[in-house]
Amino acid sequence: MSEGPAANGSEELVLLGGTVVDPVARTERVADVTIRGGRIQSITPAGAQPKLRPENHCTAIDVRGLMVTPGLVDMHVHLREPGFEYKETIASGVRAAVTGGVTSVACMANTRPVNDCPAVTRFILEKAKEAGLARVFPIGAVSVGLAGEQLAAFGGMHDAGIVAVSDDGHPVMDAELMRRALECASLFGIPVIDHAEDRALACNGVMHEGAVSLKLGLPGIPAAAEDVMVGRDIALARLTGGHLHVAHISSATSVEMVREARQAGIRVTAEVSPHHLWLTDAAVEEYNTNAKMAPPLRTAGDRDALRVGLADGTIDAIATDHAPHHRDEKDCEFQSAANGVVGLETLLPLTLRLVRESLLDLPSAIAKVTCEPARILGLPTGRLEVGRLADVAVIDPDLEWTVRREKLRTKSKNTPFEGWTMRGRAVLALVEGRIVHDERERRG
Ligand SMILES: [Zn+2]
Repeated sequence: MSEGPAANGSEELVLLGGTVVDPVARTERVADVTIRGGRIQSITPAGAQPKLRPENHCTAIDVRGLMVTPGLVDMHVHLREPGFEYKETIASGVRAAVTGGVTSVACMANTRPVNDCPAVTRFILEKAKEAGLARVFPIGAVSVGLAGEQLAAFGGMHDAGIVAVSDDGHPVMDAELMRRALECASLFGIPVIDHAEDRALACNGVMHEGAVSLKLGLPGIPAAAEDVMVGRDIALARLTGGHLHVAHISSATSVEMVREARQAGIRVTAEVSPHHLWLTDAAVEEYNTNAKMAPPLRTAGDRDALRVGLADGTIDAIATDHAPHHRDEKDCEFQSAANGVVGLETLLPLTLRLVRESLLDLPSAIAKVTCEPARILGLPTGRLEVGRLADVAVIDPDLEWTVRREKLRTKSKNTPFEGWTMRGRAVLALVEGRIVHDERERRG
């Protein structure tokens, strides 16, 4: 499963002269990074390296002019396997991940069978190991079969390796079940990830309820469908002391509630998706099914509130909600199209774009896709420090490329960013010092 030079055992890999971005210390500096035994051995000022010794199996890679960051961590991914391999497999999903510089993914439980027991958790981890690219951290279901009735057995799944619980794709409508989920998850020190959507209010809606839905004559989902659940679950987090993580937050009111809850000391974290940061319900105007997702794209006011929340720290992380669907599930009438878009391969350039738009400085933007999601899930990755696992992305921040669905590595092609010019691309990705993605030949 290994490809390219390894930096295991006595072998050393040195990344020479890149701009090293440390999202924890919030610094960037030109430095050499030495990797040995799968870990970061040293980060030293560029040129201070003693002469490289080829007899020691040392591989040196010139990364001058490039950025060196921790490998990205995407805490919200649907890998679809087991059960929906026609949309994505674990192998194709992690291939797409590393192509985007993402070396850790947390995958949702809405597979078939559902990841609500240790056997499925172990299956996912086994397949991920076979693929040997990005690390995969499974998320277990809150309820058996995602049915929202009976609490899944968290203990067994936790022993098998889950890092959080979520019924994502479905809301937990029963408040008492959500209360017990928060209580039980805190016994294992893991968060409950909240797909906040009141089913009755969302009803048969297919897009955000507002001027555009009225104009198009499509049934809408009010922002309140999210807000009432975020409000309820903040109250339950307060009651239980459990860690609530709001997935794909999309409404201005929800952002404000999370901000106030955090100020009150309640354990609430939140993530936002790139599509909610970049698109609004106007994207639906041509009945574009690749602009259909749950929660729906909302107004410019909501989008701007998400950006403010991201900048002021109310929103901790950017996560893609990568949701591959087969062509047949999107090439159809808007109302019957599946919800969701792919995102693993566009996360990095869209995050860098926030820096160019002066919303975040570079280390802070990188933090939103590395150490912050890793902290929420308690992962050992997402940091670039001596002694840490050498999961690294080497990024050409100026490389321009155009999103073409047929060129994406994911098995599904449902991107809302088709035709967009992106700036920034991972030219190299390392997991534990091993090269898992290499497109250096693409440059220059
Ligand atoms: Zn969701």
